[in-house]
Amino acid sequence: MSPRSAATPADLEPCTGFLRRLIRTESLPGLEGSLAALVCEEMDRLGYVDVRRDEVGNALGRIAGGGDAEPLMLNTHLDHVDVGDPSAWPHPPFAAEIRDGRVWGRGAVDIKGPLAAQVYGAARLIGGAPPPGDVWVTAVVQEEIGGVGARHLAASPPARLIVVGEPSRLHIRRGHRGRIELVLRIFGKSVHASVPASGVNPLYSLARFLDGLSSIEHSEAGELGASTVAPTLVATDQSSANVIPAEVAQTLDWRNVPGETEEVVLARLQELVDDVLEPGARAELTIPTQDRVTYTGVHAPIPANNPSYLLAESHPLVEAARGLAEAALGRPPGVGVWSFATDGGHFAAAGCEPVGFGPGDERLAHTVDEHIEIGQLAAALDVNEAFARELTSRATALDSVSSN
Ligand SMILES: [Zn+2]
Repeated sequence: MSPRSAATPADLEPCTGFLRRLIRTESLPGLEGSLAALVCEEMDRLGYVDVRRDEVGNALGRIAGGGDAEPLMLNTHLDHVDVGDPSAWPHPPFAAEIRDGRVWGRGAVDIKGPLAAQVYGAARLIGGAPPPGDVWVTAVVQEEIGGVGARHLAASPPARLIVVGEPSRLHIRRGHRGRIELVLRIFGKSVHASVPASGVNPLYSLARFLDGLSSIEHSEAGELGASTVAPTLVATDQSSANVIPAEVAQTLDWRNVPGETEEVVLARLQELVDDVLEPGARAELTIPTQDRVTYTGVHAPIPANNPSYLLAESHPLVEAARGLAEAALGRPPGVGVWSFATDGGHFAAAGCEPVGFGPGDERLAHTVDEHIEIGQLAAALDVNEAFARELTSRATALDSVSSN
C-alpha cells in the first residue's frame, strides 16, 4: 500500500509555522497560560468548536462527529522541562530555527511537535465529511511535574479512547512503567558521638534496609519487564558531624508495573523495614504529596505516584491504530512500550484506554539537541488525520468481533 498523502511543503507550512510559534512561547510547568491561549486561538481559527480553557488551564477543542461512534481524544501537554544553560545548545532553545529539514528547540519533540501534529492532523477533517464521533484535541498543564492537568481531565474525560501524542518515532506505544516515590524515615536516639552506645543510630537500620532492598520482591508485566527500585536522596536531621542523628530520611524511586499499586509496594517495603529495625529504632514509610499551583490559581495536592499501564498487543485500539498507521505511512509501524511515564497512566487509572503515537525521537526529549524532522511531522499529520477519521469506529468494530 502506498502512503495516502505526501503533504507538500506548502501544505506543511501552516503546521510548521504553528510549531515554531509554540516553541517561541516558553511554557514551564505552572506558566503555561500564554501557550494555552495560543493553542486555543489556533483551534478557533481552524474551525474547532467548543474551544476553551478549563479550571486548571488545560486547552480543549472539538470537531463535531456526524454519527454516534465513540468519541476520541487526541492528547498532549503544554509544559516543557527547563533548558539549563542556553549556551550548551547547538541552536538557541527558543528560536525555533529550521536547519536541514528539522525544527530545533525546547519542546520540539516533547511536546510541541506532537501537539502541532494533533491540532493540524485532526483539523484536516474540518469542512469535509465529519468523523463518525466527536474528536477532541486537548493539551494539558503540568505533565512534567505530576500530571495536574491530566488528573483533572481524567475525572470527567470527554472520551474514553485516547491517543497520547508523546514522541514515539511514529511507532505505536501501548504502555509504560509508572513511578512511585517513597520516603523512608527511621528515627533513633540522638546523643554525643563520643558515646554512641548510649544512643540509637538510625543509620545502622538504614544500612540493613538497603542491604535487604536488593532482594525485595518485584512484579513483571510482559514487555514492560520487571519493576525496579533505586535509593536516591538521603538526609539526616543533623548538620553537626559530632552528633548521632535522631533521624535519617531515605528517598526511593520505584518504577512499578501494572498491578503493583502503592498499597502493594508499601506492604513489601514495610515487611522489610519490620525485619531490619535495630532495637530502639522506629520507622515511617510515606508517599509524599506536593502542592502544585496552576497558572489559573488552582492548588492541587499531587501524590508522587504516576501510574503504569499496559494495553494488550491484541487490544482493539492497538490493532486499529496499527492498521491505520500502516496505511497512512505505507509501512508497518513497530508496536512497543515507552521507557518513560506519560499522562496515559492517569487516564488509564481513570478507566480510559490510551494508545500512544507521536512524531519525533523520544531519546532527544529533555536534551540540548532537541529537534524534530519535518518529514516526521508530515507523516504524523497523515496518521493523526486517519485516527481522527476512523480510529474509534475501527476499534469498536474489532472489539465486537473479538467479543463475539
Ligand atoms: Zn512529554
